[in-house]
Amino acid sequence: MPDLGAIWTQFTSNALVQFTVRFGLVYLFFIYLAMVFWVVRDAQQRTENVIMPYLAGLMVVVLNLPGLFLYMIVRPRETLADAYERQLAEESLLAEAEQRVVCPTCHERVQEDYILCPTCRTRLKRMCPSCAKLIRPEWSICPYCAKDFDERDWTVHAGGKAAAAAGSRDATEKIGT
Ligand SMILES: [Zn+2]
Ligand SMILES: [Zn+2]
Repeated sequence: MPDLGAIWTQFTSNALVQFTVRFGLVYLFFIYLAMVFWVVRDAQQRTENVIMPYLAGLMVVVLNLPGLFLYMIVRPRETLADAYERQLAEESLLAEAEQRVVCPTCHERVQEDYILCPTCRTRLKRMCPSCAKLIRPEWSICPYCAKDFDERDWTVHAGGKAAAAAGSRDATEKIGT
């Protein structure tokens, strides 16, 4: 019957065995560190919270491999980049829906270049007298040719020009409105 204790002592005192065990432990330790590091990085990509990723890392430090599995289960499904992309897609869909023009009175679909609503005859656009482009009826200036509809046309009304020359700015404004 061989002495098992003596064999074990001889085995553990072997330099190669000692080296292998140490190497294995260091290797495991680095995997452990990498695991914690990965969890913190991954959590940072999934939450804007500053503390949560470190708490997740701490969980893996304490629980080790089960902590990693636990993190994989409870982590937010989407990364922040994914969420941002999805949000952009949703917004562009919404913008597309808003571009469909409807009549403000009867809410029937109308074309962008309609002057009147064909259903309820609401005035939708008017034609700029200067450049003949279609503009909104509430605009007081043409965005295409900068024609100001409130400003008095001094070239036509010679009397107004004389009043302006007289320097009574208030008076001309009253005439204008
Ligand atoms: Zn209408
Ligand atoms: Zn115009």
